[in-house]
Amino acid sequence: MMPGTATRVHPLTSAIPSLVGETPSFSAAEALEALRRLFGMTGALAPLPSERDQNFRVDTAHGRFVLKISNPAEQLEALEAQLAAMATVRASDPSIHCPEPVPGVDGAVVGRLRDAEGREHFVRLLTYVPGQPLSAIALRIRRHWQGIGFLLGRVDRALSGFTHPGARRALQWDLRHAGPVIAERLSFVADAEQRRLLERVLLRLEREVEPAMPGLRTSVIHNDGNDHNVLVDGGTVAGLVDFGDLVESYTVGEIAVGIAYAILGVEDFVGVAAEMLSAYHAVFPLEPREVELLPELVLARLAMSAAIAAQQRRLNPANPYLGVSVDSVWPSLIRLLEHPRASVVAALHRARGADRRSGGRSAAALLEARGRHLGRGLTVHYREPVHVTRGWMQYLYDAGGRRYLDLVNNVCHVGHCHPRVVRAVAEQMARLNTNTRYLYDPLAEYLERLLGRFAEPLRVCYLVCSGSEANELALRLARTHTKRRDVIVVANAYHGNTSTLVEMSPYKYNGPGGTGRPSWVHEIEMPDVYRGSVRDPAAAGPAYAAQVDEAISRAERNGGVAAFFCESFLGCGGQIELPLGYLRAAYERVRAAGGVCIADEVQVGFGRSGTHFWGFETQGVVPDIVTLGKPIGNGHPIGAVITTEAIAASFDTGMEYFNTFGGNPVSCAAGLAVLDVVEEEGLQENARRVGDCLRQLLRDLASRHAAIGDVRGRGLFLGVDLVRDRTTRDPAPELAAEVVERLRRRGILVTTEGPHANVLKIKPPLVVTEANAEEAATALDTVLAELAGRTERSG
Ligand code: PMP
Repeated sequence: MMPGTATRVHPLTSAIPSLVGETPSFSAAEALEALRRLFGMTGALAPLPSERDQNFRVDTAHGRFVLKISNPAEQLEALEAQLAAMATVRASDPSIHCPEPVPGVDGAVVGRLRDAEGREHFVRLLTYVPGQPLSAIALRIRRHWQGIGFLLGRVDRALSGFTHPGARRALQWDLRHAGPVIAERLSFVADAEQRRLLERVLLRLEREVEPAMPGLRTSVIHNDGNDHNVLVDGGTVAGLVDFGDLVESYTVGEIAVGIAYAILGVEDFVGVAAEMLSAYHAVFPLEPREVELLPELVLARLAMSAAIAAQQRRLNPANPYLGVSVDSVWPSLIRLLEHPRASVVAALHRARGADRRSGGRSAAALLEARGRHLGRGLTVHYREPVHVTRGWMQYLYDAGGRRYLDLVNNVCHVGHCHPRVVRAVAEQMARLNTNTRYLYDPLAEYLERLLGRFAEPLRVCYLVCSGSEANELALRLARTHTKRRDVIVVANAYHGNTSTLVEMSPYKYNGPGGTGRPSWVHEIEMPDVYRGSVRDPAAAGPAYAAQVDEAISRAERNGGVAAFFCESFLGCGGQIELPLGYLRAAYERVRAAGGVCIADEVQVGFGRSGTHFWGFETQGVVPDIVTLGKPIGNGHPIGAVITTEAIAASFDTGMEYFNTFGGNPVSCAAGLAVLDVVEEEGLQENARRVGDCLRQLLRDLASRHAAIGDVRGRGLFLGVDLVRDRTTRDPAPELAAEVVERLRRRGILVTTEGPHANVLKIKPPLVVTEANAEEAATALDTVLAELAGRTERSG
C-alpha cells in the first residue's frame, strides 16, 4: 500500500470491542431476582431498547427506575467514569435532568450478576428521568433544536474540567477513530453506491480533519445526544440519559453527534444545525476551527452509524435496535455530501455569531486596504472582484459561501488545498526546514523523482523559487555556456518579472509601460495558424521556424545567439499550440548557430497537455534547458531548471549558485506530493479525457455561435478565440471581457488572454471532471446567446 493513502487504518480500531455480539439476555425473572438481591426491591419490568446492554424500566413501590445490566465486556472503570460524569453534571447544573444511581443493599452503586455461562455482568439501578424522548415527538420545532444545543452546551460546560481514567478508553463511537472505524467496515456494506458514499466521507475526513486533528480541543463528552437520549419535559428539552458512550474525545464531537442525529430526515439540515450550534455556543463557546470541521464530523458520525449498523446487522441480525435510524442515515449523508461545504461552514460561522467575511472585512474594505498599501499597478480579476476565503480541488468559495468553478488556475495543479500536498508541507514544516548546504532526504528523493521524468541528456537540476528565477538562471546558464549574450524570443511571450526577463519578454517591453526591445533581444513571429502569416497547419511548423534564421543573423551581428526561449504552448500569446515540427526545426537552426534551446515549461508542464507529461514532448524534441514553475508545488513557491551535464559543467566556474529557499525540505516535500498525486490520481489521463470532452463541447458551441472563431489547445490548456467576424478573424476583446464577467456571475472563472485580449483562457486544476466541462460549456452557451441577442437588438 502506498504511504498516506485514504485506506490507511488506525492501529487501534481492530482492538476496539464492538460489544454488540455479547448483548446480555437475562430473562425477566432473572432480572427481577437480581433487582431483589442487589437493590432490595421488586416491581414490574418492561424491556427498554439498547445497542449493547440489557435495560429494563422498573416500576416499584419506591418509584420508577431503570435497571441496567451491562455487556460482559464492559469495564468497571468506564461505568465509574459515567457515574462520576453524571454526578458532575448534576452538581454543576441542577437544571439538567440526568440519571442518579441508586445504591445497592451493600451500599455499592454497581452490583454484579453472573449469567449461565459464568460471565460477570455489572448491574446498576438508575433513577428514571421524567419526560418524553424527543424521538417520540413527531413534529419538531425550532425550540427543540435550540433545546438540544443548549442542553449539550451546558453538559459540556459542566464537564469541561472533568477527567476520569475510565473515560480514556477505546470506543468505536469515538469520532477520533472515525476514519478507521468506517474503513474497516466498508466490506459489510453490500451496496456499491453506499460504499462509495462512505469512501467519499473517508476522503473528506482525511483531507479536512486529519490535518487539523492536533489542534482540536478534547474533553470528556456524553457523545450520544441522539433523540432517544434527549428528553423533553413540559415542552422543554431538559433531560439527558444513557452516558454509555461517554469518552474523552474532541469537544466539538458532542454537538457534531447531536447534529448528526437531529438532521436525519430533515430537508433544511443547515438551518437545524445552525439553530443547535447557536444555542450550544451561547453557553459553551466553540472555536472557529471547531466550527470549520463540523461538516466532516457530522458526516463521520452518520457514516459510522451506517458502517457499524451494516457490521452489526451481519453479526447480530436478531437485535432490532441496531436498525434504528440507519435507513434515514443515507439520505442525510447524501444531502450533506452534496451541499457546498463552504456554504454549510459559512452558515455555522454565522450561527456562532461570527461574520466569517475574513475577520469581518467586506470585499470593499479589502479592496480599499489593497489600494492604500499594496504596490500600485496590479489589477484584480473581474469588475466585481471575488472575495475568496477557501479553495477545494477545482472550486473556490467566496465569503458568502458561493462556489466557483476555477477554470483558470494552473498553479493549483492537483486541486486547491489538495490534502496530500497540505499534509506533506505541514508535516515537513513541523519537522525540518533548512537550506541546501545541509544533507536531508527530501532533496535527494525529489531530485531523483523529478529528473526521472526527463530523457537523456537532461540530468542536472537546480531548484529555485519561481518561474522567473528559473528563467533567469536558465539565461545565465546559456550565456555562461555559450559565452554570448543575445536571445531569440517569440512575440507576445512572457518569461518573468526580473529586470532582465522583462527586457526579453515582448508581452512586457511592448506592452503598457514597456520601454521597447533591447538590442540583445531578437523577436520572431508567433507560430499562430489562426491569425499569423502562415495558416496552413501542415506547412506552418517549418515555415515559422525558418524565421529563426533571420533572428540568428541579427544576433550574429551582435556576437551570436546564446539562447532561444520558447514556451511549450504559448500562454500570453493566446493559448496557442505550436504547429507540428516547429520546435524541431527551430532547435536545429539555433543549435547549428551555437545557441542553446530553452523550453519554458512554467505554464504547461506536469501532464497538462494530457498526451505528454511535458509540453515540449508534444513536439518530439529534447531541449538543452527546461524551466519549471507554477504547478510544480501546487501553489508552494518552487521553480526548477533542468539541464545537461555539459551546460552545468560550464556554469561551474567557481562562483557558487546558492539559493536560500530553493530546494528546501518543505519545497521538496511539496514537489514530491504533487508528483505522487499526479501519478496516483491519473491526472494526466484526466487532463486528456476531460480536455478532449471540453474541447469538443466548445467546438459544438462554435457551430451555434458565430462569435467563436477558434477553439484550440490540447488537454487542459485550451483557448476560445472570440471574433467580431469569422471571415476577417477580427478579434472581439469587448465581447470576451463581457463573457468573462457573465461567466463569473454564473460561478465560472475564466479570464482573457492573447495580444488582443479576446481569447478565453482555460487551464484549470487537473482534477476537473466531465460534469464540470458540461457545466462550463452550458454556461458559455447561455452567455453567448444573451450577448448575441443584445448585439442584434442594439445593432
Ligand atoms: N514563464 C511563463 C511562461 C509564465 O507564464 C510565467 C508566469 N506567468 C513565468 C515564466 C514567471 O513565473 P513566476 O511568476 O512564477 O515568476
